[in-house]
Amino acid sequence: MLDQVYRKAVLTVTGNPNVEKIVRARGKGLVKRFVASEDIPGVLRAAKELEQDGIGAILDQLGEFIDSPEQCNEFAQQVLDLIEQAHAQGVEPYVSIKLSSVGQGKTVNGEDLGLTNARRIIRKASEYGGFVCLDMEDHPLVDLTLAQFRTLVGEFGNKAVGTVLQSYLFRSLKDRDSLDDLQPNIRMVKGAYLEPETVAYKDKADVDANYRRLVYQHMKAGNYTNVATHDEKIIDDVKHFALIHDIPRDQFEFQMLYGIRRDLQKDLALQGYRVRTYIAYGPAWYPYFTRRIAETPRNALFIVKGMLKG
Ligand SMILES: Cc1cc2nc3c(=O)[nH]c(=O)nc-3n(C[C@H](O)[C@H](O)[C@H](O)COP(=O)(O)OP(=O)(O)OC[C@H]3O[C@@H](n4cnc5c(N)ncnc54)[C@H](O)[C@@H]3O)c2cc1C
Repeated sequence: MLDQVYRKAVLTVTGNPNVEKIVRARGKGLVKRFVASEDIPGVLRAAKELEQDGIGAILDQLGEFIDSPEQCNEFAQQVLDLIEQAHAQGVEPYVSIKLSSVGQGKTVNGEDLGLTNARRIIRKASEYGGFVCLDMEDHPLVDLTLAQFRTLVGEFGNKAVGTVLQSYLFRSLKDRDSLDDLQPNIRMVKGAYLEPETVAYKDKADVDANYRRLVYQHMKAGNYTNVATHDEKIIDDVKHFALIHDIPRDQFEFQMLYGIRRDLQKDLALQGYRVRTYIAYGPAWYPYFTRRIAETPRNALFIVKGMLKG
């Protein structure tokens, strides 16, 4: 419950345009901890550094104020450029996209623009042996995202595209069951948005318990599972679960965010687990940055200290 209060307070404060101005003017050093770069060469450099530690990358171009169909198409084009450049530099084109950034919900030529652009991106990534994960946004977008995910798996296969389920939502276990026929590649997360109590668990213990259920059920069903958390206790439990249920190490991976628990990421890779880091980049970093700050009270202290240092 306290987590929710903290998250709401941080997101309210950081939503204030004056606070945003201060962070943009004086917080560059702090922002760098979570946002690798503002451009493609920078994010590819970060991916190559991780590779030296045996850690893969998920490349995420950040978007903001993307509204018109033209802007959505332009954003999709930037992701296509990213895939081209990643391939050219020998970085696996494993990307994450938010369907809303590429036109989800906008009908152009009789079809949802998000679906059209997702097809362009998945086609290009597949051409180079890459992968596209459809990030999950707030709860009003879940139905459409899962329906579009089903369509895209039907067209490109479950080795080309995956999606995300959030354990704070009451509905996610049912959603997981309903997707099982696709043998889908799913990233399990706790959830990063401010959701109403009519749709989401508010107590951390409930979110964590549901997280374990989602991961275990998905693994036991024989599906590829991306365990996307920094929660060390859950990570240990998943390792144990895999061991006692004979789930091979090539059927799951641990995923974490750039700048968070780098020590743990390296450690898991050294132990022979698959590990992948989600690297967000781009000039539109502010909303992503505020969600990271809202995730743990320790970050507020980190921000205040950084700001005082100037
Ligand atoms: C690869 C990846 C992709 C994601 N994609 C999505 C998505 O598509 N949709 C979505 O809603 N959410 C997404 N998330 C975010 C996720 O929902 C959580 O908000 C986030 O991962 C924090 O939860 P946690 O599982 O680490 O557990 P928590 O219980 O929040 O944290 C466990 C511990 O991890 C550390 N930690 C966690 N967050 C931070 C932080 N910001 N700074 C410093 N330490 C931290 C702390 O030590 C904390 O005690 C993604 C997360 C990852 C790792």
